[in-house]
Amino acid sequence: MISLPEAKRTLLKLLPQAGGILLRYFGRRGLSARSKGGVDFVTVADLAVERFLIAWLKKSFPDSAFLAEETAPKNFKRLEKKQDLWIIDPLDGTASFSRHHPDFAVSVALAGRGEVRCGAIYLPFFRKLYWASKAETSASVNGRRLSVAKTASLATSFLATGWPWELPLRATTAAWQRNLALKVRALHIFGSSVADLAAVAEGRLDGYFHCSLKPWDTAAAALMIEKAGGRVTDVHGQPRRIFEPTILASNGRLHNKILKFLK
Ligand SMILES: [Mg+2]
Repeated sequence: MISLPEAKRTLLKLLPQAGGILLRYFGRRGLSARSKGGVDFVTVADLAVERFLIAWLKKSFPDSAFLAEETAPKNFKRLEKKQDLWIIDPLDGTASFSRHHPDFAVSVALAGRGEVRCGAIYLPFFRKLYWASKAETSASVNGRRLSVAKTASLATSFLATGWPWELPLRATTAAWQRNLALKVRALHIFGSSVADLAAVAEGRLDGYFHCSLKPWDTAAAALMIEKAGGRVTDVHGQPRRIFEPTILASNGRLHNKILKFLK
């Protein structure tokens, strides 16, 4: 089993380097891209960073398994119970990234037997490096302790959500937005679930919900939010396993208030 201090040393070094690769592509017009079906797509930057991360992690931890967005098998659920599983999103927020918006992120988590043991997130544009580990009582951003916001009412809340890639599911997102829009101060779609979930951990957002995410979108961030004092469940308020597609993440105080509108 991979030791957590060793995973920490490796990830805190690798993620800023991965971010450096992304920044070299960022702002280029006409970034080479191909469709992943429907409206989803991948660029050369996603692929370059995924190759970089897997190569280095394999070198440091040759016996581990990988679940990375661009090389994930179709039935990746069978990987859920692996002992040392790296769950990687080389670039979350590809659409934002490709149009020169700053909301994009890199996320890497280490899971063991269905539980996230540690995770790191990097926001290259903002040079923010987030870290959380089962072995530590608190989570951090650039070495500072993370804590969720204290917002207690929907009327003063600042929330975000995201559009699923599966177009028919967007009706669900739209319905939840319509329900909440009449109750909250702000409800944004920035375009990166990883960056938004990190913002919940940091208290820059009070809550984030989504009806269809992948493990690489949520694995690192969910642990971070819990360590920052927040709460993470599925959209029915039930405890969430790492491969569960729906999520409500919040500062805790607003959790049940938001939950009521996700119907
Ligand atoms: Mg991605």
